[in-house]
Amino acid sequence: MNNQNRQQININPEDTTPIECPKCKSQIFQECFMMRKISAIISPSGREEVFSIPVPVCIACGTPYTGSTEERISNNSVEE
Ligand SMILES: [Zn+2]
Repeated sequence: MNNQNRQQININPEDTTPIECPKCKSQIFQECFMMRKISAIISPSGREEVFSIPVPVCIACGTPYTGSTEERISNNSVEE
């Protein structure tokens, strides 16, 4: 009875805040990837590693939205 896959949350779109591109005010973003390198010192495997972080990029002007990127970086590195 415990489905932890996805919780359905009812959110009224009117209660949310649209995020605009800081440059052109477009609200349409596409997922791209930012590549990051972990130095051997902090890498869990002890070797230099490269990994990718999903980043929304404005489809109109190509500006990456990095508002919560820091959060996602720390989340990513904790997992695995
Ligand atoms: Zn833009």
